[in-house]
Amino acid sequence: MATDYDAPRKTDEDVEQDSIQELQARRQDKSSGVVDEDETEAAEGFELPGADLSGEELAVRVLPRQADEFTCSSCFLVHHRSQLAAENGGQPICTECAAA
Ligand SMILES: [Zn+2]
Repeated sequence: MATDYDAPRKTDEDVEQDSIQELQARRQDKSSGVVDEDETEAAEGFELPGADLSGEELAVRVLPRQADEFTCSSCFLVHHRSQLAAENGGQPICTECAAA
């Protein structure tokens, strides 16, 4: 039983040494240039179109309102149509701001 466990370990050590040498050889190939440039371009490509622009636009712009809702031009809150007090040239005002 014990010899069965010892036997494959020796071959594993041999395989590890071989694979380490292969990895070292591959690293030398990678450090010669191409892979690093690709990774840098990919990282920049992910960051530019994504987080910054869309995040700021969403923060500045009011959330897309529903068909039965409006954005008050005074308090900039989204209210239900039932709270629409007046519209001054396409500028809706809610009942709270109209009463203030
Ligand atoms: Zn308002």
